[in-house]
Amino acid sequence: MLNIAIFGPPGAGKGTQSAKIIEKYNLTYIATGNLLREEIASGSNLGKKVEDIIKHGGLVSEILILEMLEEHIFSEKPTNGFLFDGFPRTRVQAYMLDGLLLKINKKLKYLISLEVPQQLCIDRLIKRGLTSGRSDDNEETIKKRLIEYEEKTEPVMKFYKEKGIYKPINGVGTVDEIFKRIEKVLDN
Ligand code: AMP
Repeated sequence: MLNIAIFGPPGAGKGTQSAKIIEKYNLTYIATGNLLREEIASGSNLGKKVEDIIKHGGLVSEILILEMLEEHIFSEKPTNGFLFDGFPRTRVQAYMLDGLLLKINKKLKYLISLEVPQQLCIDRLIKRGLTSGRSDDNEETIKKRLIEYEEKTEPVMKFYKEKGIYKPINGVGTVDEIFKRIEKVLDN
């Protein structure tokens, strides 16, 4: 069993690396940002509640994230484990993740943290914004997302450092170079 989370600022390359990780290790991918965007696209009640928050780069409330995750974690068909992307994003969410995994007798093995300089993240996101169609990939919202990351998400690292499962990965390089660094941790 391999339950891991991929961590890092917006634009760190979490989605790109996740696609390679889930394929090689046969993991169930739980990306809260993708799930929220699906809710918006389907016009659900949850989607309506979160649309504006996401558009402006804020964080969705803890309880909405919890309800959405409970629905997904307990209904997915079994694989070798879970890969969480974009979650946990606050210290409260880190405790939530422990609780959710405990409920199914599982534990997080690693927090894979992609380390990328801020300016490179901004450049990547602006470039992505040209084709992604995402309402939050514009300069103003990107800045807000990075502030949210620094203030609320970065403290999550400390939680996992103290647990001894924090694994920093140099996130600068080609997709394959970065993936090799991740494999080194996961194949250990
Ligand atoms: P992402 O696709 O991970 O970049 O997330 C896009 C947006 O969805 C974020 O800027 C937040 O508004 C929202 N979001 C995604 N995951 C979470 C989360 N775990 N907690 C709160 N808000 C989230």
